[in-house]
Amino acid sequence: MHTHRLQSPPCDARPQRTQYRAKGGDKSRHRPPHKSGQPAPLFNANDPVRQTGIYEVIHDRGHRTAHEVVMLNGDFFPECDSCGDRVRFRLIRTAPYIFQDEDFEEPQ
Ligand SMILES: [Zn+2]
Repeated sequence: MHTHRLQSPPCDARPQRTQYRAKGGDKSRHRPPHKSGQPAPLFNANDPVRQTGIYEVIHDRGHRTAHEVVMLNGDFFPECDSCGDRVRFRLIRTAPYIFQDEDFEEPQ
């Protein structure tokens, strides 16, 4: 009895590597609308600090070389003892103050 069964399973059912997972998909959708390439704004003494971060302090007439400080949101930029309210502050980078982070907040 010759029964030809053509029931061999299809051999080329290998899982095809689909290329759906392209690396670096849309990660760049997350940033707030911020125009880069603009000069960083300068802040004056007594201006409110709106973003916690590292600021460069630029003194009037260069009586002191510029230096970096941390300013906290909600504070005010201080006057300089030497050049008063002619001191300027330039945001270098924002950085959250650790005790304003929800995981590190100090219990009140
Ligand atoms: Zn100064």
